[in-house]
Amino acid sequence: MKKLQMQLVPQQCHGRNLRAILKKQSWDKLSKAVRSHQGKCQTCGGSPDHCHEVWEWVVSEGDLVQRLVGLDAACKDCHDFMHFGRVVALETSYRQDKVIGHAISVLMCDADWMINYCGKNFLANEKLSKFMVANMDLEWIHRVPAGEIGLIPSVWAIIWDEIDQYIDD
Ligand SMILES: [Zn+2]
Repeated sequence: MKKLQMQLVPQQCHGRNLRAILKKQSWDKLSKAVRSHQGKCQTCGGSPDHCHEVWEWVVSEGDLVQRLVGLDAACKDCHDFMHFGRVVALETSYRQDKVIGHAISVLMCDADWMINYCGKNFLANEKLSKFMVANMDLEWIHRVPAGEIGLIPSVWAIIWDEIDQYIDD
């Protein structure tokens, strides 16, 4: 199991993701493959409701690079915790409390630790949000064999094409 982490998306990267690049049917196939192949939420073992795009934000030569590093099945509560900025912006306080409660139980931490953790993450995200995005690094897609994410190679090849098309544009 992976450790549950808040993974706030810097402002300028909102909407810049694999799901947005791919055609809907390709994303749906990819998401379904990852969820059924992994079989459970990768951070709590719960229901694999969502496919989470794992991104790294790396500062390189003064620019921010957005690098895809994996795809993980995630339950709705863990996924909302990873993207808690979106939850704060769009969801009710009841939902926010539920997500935080879930994270506290998964991380086995107390409320004070969680408040501090959220504060640090929001602050770090604010700093990253000030950079111009240099580019998206999607090399991960080409490194991972189809079988490793539960896809048949022909579908993986279609997804590669859609991504290469996007990069060329
Ligand atoms: Zn979970």
